[in-house]
Amino acid sequence: MSSSSARAPDSVVADADALARKVAAIRAAGPAKLQVISDFDGTLTRYWYDGSRGQSSHGLLRQGNEEFDAKREALFEHYHPIEINPDIPLLEKAKLMEEWWGKTHGLLIEGGLTQNAIKKSVADAAIAFRDGVVELFEFLEARDIPVLVFSAGLADIIEEVFRQKLHRSFKNIKIVSNRMVFNEEGSLVAFKGKTIHVLNKNEHSLDMAAPVHDSLGDPNGSIDDYSLVKKRTNVLLLGDHIGDLGMSDGLNYENRIAAGFLNTNIEKSLKDYSKAFDIVYLNDASMRGVVELVSDLCP
Ligand SMILES: [Mg+2]
Repeated sequence: MSSSSARAPDSVVADADALARKVAAIRAAGPAKLQVISDFDGTLTRYWYDGSRGQSSHGLLRQGNEEFDAKREALFEHYHPIEINPDIPLLEKAKLMEEWWGKTHGLLIEGGLTQNAIKKSVADAAIAFRDGVVELFEFLEARDIPVLVFSAGLADIIEEVFRQKLHRSFKNIKIVSNRMVFNEEGSLVAFKGKTIHVLNKNEHSLDMAAPVHDSLGDPNGSIDDYSLVKKRTNVLLLGDHIGDLGMSDGLNYENRIAAGFLNTNIEKSLKDYSKAFDIVYLNDASMRGVVELVSDLCP
């Protein structure tokens, strides 16, 4: 493993030659061939916030109705152990995850979620982007490199986090996640399209990107020609779980550099992470390493 030797490393690269080859190939093809695919929670956002676990885009939501917040919490207590149980077959688990997401979405509608409750939840939330995220987005925007953010959370919340925490929008960023439909009074009445849950955000993510890219209310611009995204055959993928690697499954890529944030359980997981990702950033790292990496890809 190569890393700066004496001090504790911030990042680990298991196969430096392989990474160097990919960097050279992507650089030679140029920025017009590159796209970035990123997970949201724990990847763009920090794992820790003020010494405790940061909130996820799902976890931060307060419906403004305690009874329904408690009901969603009860669903979490029931289904989360299923989500992390390795002994449940994948197909069965996917069905149960769909059930969980369906019930949660139902409670959000039934309990009367409003756009104002989303704004307030985000304002009160323990959630922050990693340092360097704005630099990364600015660098990519200046070179017209699209960023697709895939999440099994809620697009409307993630977009509100972008609005409140970044204070600006980026025309090259697109959120692919579960999208809400509000009525004229600003109350949630439905969800759009197919449910994206933890187990299918991977397989279908790129195909699900198509119908949402022209939706309204996205503070970031739309990616004008979706087919162009598919023509960008070099990928920088950012994730914090090995399962995030599946986000590029819908794409017939030529070169992929996968960068992983290993936020917790480092000793236990480093071996698997350094096999799965070309580069692993340790200890809830900043985004600066990725900024350096893209500077290498697009000098
Ligand atoms: Mg994540």
